Amino acid sequence: MTTENFCAMSVAEVQAGLANKQFSAREVAEGALARVAAADDAVHAYLETTEQLAYEAAARVDEALAAGTPLPELGPLAGVPMAFKDNLNLTGTHTTCSSRMLERYVSPYTATCVQRSLDAGAIPLGKLNMDEFAFGSSTETSAFGPTHNPWDLDRVPGGSSGGSAASVAAGLACVALGSDTGGSIRQPGSFCGVVGVKPTYGVVSRYGVVAFGSSLDQVGPFARNVRDAALVMNAISGHDPLDCTSQPVDTDFTANLAEGVRGMRIGVVPAFMEAAGLSPEVKAKVEEATRVLADAGAELVEVELPNAAAAMSAYYVLGPCEAFSNLARFDSVRYGYCDPDHKDLGGQYEASRSRGFGPEARRRIMLGSYLLSAGVYDKYYYPAQQVRTLITQDYVQAYEHCDVILCPVAPRTAFKFGEVSDPAEMYLNDLFTISINIAGNGGMSMPCGLGNTSGLPVGVQLVAPAFKDENMLRAAAALEQHYGAAPVAPDFADGKAGE
Ligand code: GLN
Repeated sequence: MTTENFCAMSVAEVQAGLANKQFSAREVAEGALARVAAADDAVHAYLETTEQLAYEAAARVDEALAAGTPLPELGPLAGVPMAFKDNLNLTGTHTTCSSRMLERYVSPYTATCVQRSLDAGAIPLGKLNMDEFAFGSSTETSAFGPTHNPWDLDRVPGGSSGGSAASVAAGLACVALGSDTGGSIRQPGSFCGVVGVKPTYGVVSRYGVVAFGSSLDQVGPFARNVRDAALVMNAISGHDPLDCTSQPVDTDFTANLAEGVRGMRIGVVPAFMEAAGLSPEVKAKVEEATRVLADAGAELVEVELPNAAAAMSAYYVLGPCEAFSNLARFDSVRYGYCDPDHKDLGGQYEASRSRGFGPEARRRIMLGSYLLSAGVYDKYYYPAQQVRTLITQDYVQAYEHCDVILCPVAPRTAFKFGEVSDPAEMYLNDLFTISINIAGNGGMSMPCGLGNTSGLPVGVQLVAPAFKDENMLRAAAALEQHYGAAPVAPDFADGKAGE
């Protein structure tokens, strides 16, 4: 068996090796799973590995190649080791959402985004840790223990898709899927130094994604280079009859990556750059990335998003309201943990939901329940929807003047475990990401090297007009020309296991 770390390769490298018969898809699956077994103890990105599914997928690739089918016909992800956030259903696997509530839930069906990845030839390695039900920015709310940041194991990987970001950063998956309701792909992408893409709402089907905020949730890829992220986008995007909000997108997201940014108008938002709480090193990186794009021929324009400052307030009304409604199904009868210690049905609900959900999930449910109650609804939920319309209009107006907006992802780099213990302070992680979910636009985190004081990865955020996700990928590719593809974290590079 070959000892190469296939998970540290790009999609193109894996596929070149398969096409040249340097290795088989079976060897890729074996090597990738061996790598996860050796190195994931330090990171804890995985909640479950899926050996049998991986070998079955690899066999399909090997058999098709042996029968003479050319590799490109097997799909854009043929032979690529890939892993999935644990709120994405995959038949026969546990889909726990990192909650005791769903500890024993086994998916009876597969999410469209996962199925499309498999149809594109990906080798599924397993399911990835997250904040419980995607509530959080650090994976510390996982009921099964946090994930560690591969760049510094004493620090959080961000969240809620922390396992997804960390798996790619540590070379424990070539690409991964996460979900983003308020920043959960982009913030961990920034903390772990990998590309993280939240597509425009409607680009990727939500069928089979355990819902948090149905009007905000969107699935997207993590990768170590822009092209790999675009290839995953090609595989998972497009209309799905099983999700009525999915749109008939048939964009080739790789098509304009090589075009450069000459003639592109890049919007910068002065108010974001002056925001209290933005750390100097992140600010410096965003300014540097702005110069990089300007030097590559882009035109810089200042744009304003006058209502974006209200996004956080609106999100922490709309998000909990939708979460409260979505999580009502976990009642211990049809779904979820059933506490044995009860006398009647009311007691069963109470005991099961009190013990099945962790503190942050309970906080969101109680907040949503209060906000939607009679008399309160008109004061918060309704105005929050009005704010949503204003923010959406802000973006539409801004994009009359620019093709992409460049701004920070998160106010700072990865923090230490336990360092942010106040929930309201934790929510500030999403200062720059939330308005994009509110408006429904695409946004992505693009790694730009290390911060000059922390020495930790910093990502900048590129935001595109709705259904123009290819714009941000194009600008990201120009940044990648300057910064290079994202490396595997040093302690995990060259087969090291983070000891
Ligand atoms: N951190 C945000 C929250 O806790 C966003 C989470 C997400 O995008 N899933 O709500």
